[in-house]
Amino acid sequence: MSLNYNEIVGKSDKYIFQTYTRQPIAIKKARGAVVTDVNGKEYIDCVAGIAVNNVGHCHPAVVDAIKRQAEELIHVSNLYYLECQALLAEQLVNLSGTNRVFFCNSGAEAVEGALKLARKVSGKKEFIATEHAFHGRTRGALSVTHKEKYRKPFEPLSPSVFVPYNDAEAIRNAITRDTAGIIVEPIQGEGGVIVPSDEYLKEVREICDETGTLLILDEVQTGFGRTGKWFAKEHSGILPDIMTTAKAMGGGFPMGALLAVEDTAVNFGRGDHASTFGGSPLACAAALANIDVMKKERLVERSGELGTYLMGKLAGMNKDYVTEIRGRGLMVGMELSINCEDIVNKTRERGILLNCTSGSVLRFVPPLTITKEQLDTVVSVLNEI
Ligand SMILES: *Cc1c(COP(=O)(O)O)cnc(C)c1O
Repeated sequence: MSLNYNEIVGKSDKYIFQTYTRQPIAIKKARGAVVTDVNGKEYIDCVAGIAVNNVGHCHPAVVDAIKRQAEELIHVSNLYYLECQALLAEQLVNLSGTNRVFFCNSGAEAVEGALKLARKVSGKKEFIATEHAFHGRTRGALSVTHKEKYRKPFEPLSPSVFVPYNDAEAIRNAITRDTAGIIVEPIQGEGGVIVPSDEYLKEVREICDETGTLLILDEVQTGFGRTGKWFAKEHSGILPDIMTTAKAMGGGFPMGALLAVEDTAVNFGRGDHASTFGGSPLACAAALANIDVMKKERLVERSGELGTYLMGKLAGMNKDYVTEIRGRGLMVGMELSINCEDIVNKTRERGILLNCTSGSVLRFVPPLTITKEQLDTVVSVLNEI
């Protein structure tokens, strides 16, 4: 394998569905918070595979766990018991405060499972979701994703109603006898890094308790230390009935999980849900190593500290171009009054990877292992631009 950049782009554009708008670089390798393209150019990575590589790219402990597991067992299905699944489930239950885990392979798949479970528990069909929510691209997940452009060509989807984010009373008013549950992100990610008030999730939890409505918390992006806690729900001290997580779960290896409290989880009986690859030995080994690294390197605390540091530095930037800075831990958004894509292109040329979401928001979700010096470089290049 030694195609040059033009050959890679040529074949990709010819043979792959043209569903992605890609940056004009081809990545060859990565370590920690540094990514290298096929021409040998290095970039400080503030995207981390879209909030996935929380322990840094190719963390040696994760690489080693995958290598060792690959030599022993790659796949057998869920027809059998697996030691690494049992150990990982125990860890996740302890870290999340929920009681049971269903393993899957992506965020959308976790959300699909969550919606199915809520329908089974409630016997109802309709979901309440929030404006600007993103929950994934499969049909169930899409039905609670807000963006018109994503949804429109695929309607009719499952019934759902959208209420303003960060407005708990709007949820109360939207609950009807058809409501199966409410799904919400603790911080909206794709929607533009929208941080709700500290009371919001507490109020949502109270409304769900008063009305007997299931609360699904989508922690696909906010999980695994991203916001300075293991899960962002800890900032408000609530426990959802159902929770989803994925992105950073496997240290870069594809993996997702549906979690639920006991009285909810028991409603999924034998045969109600399944996944051939869910909780594969490779994914579980990677996820166990990932959690171990996060604990040993204190990455959850580090995320909180570095997030405060980064937001402090960004706050000193030119107010003519920056309208707002918001975030928690190393999940930071900077709202711009100038073209966001232009900035992404210019920083990339200067060796920094950033992502623009929701049109005008520069999103910073770097590996939690990134150094202060690397963040300083990012901010000073942004200042120059
Ligand atoms: C990314 C994301 C998803 C979808 O995850 P995929 O792995 O891309 O299917 C769902 N919910 C949230 C909050 C996300 O950020």
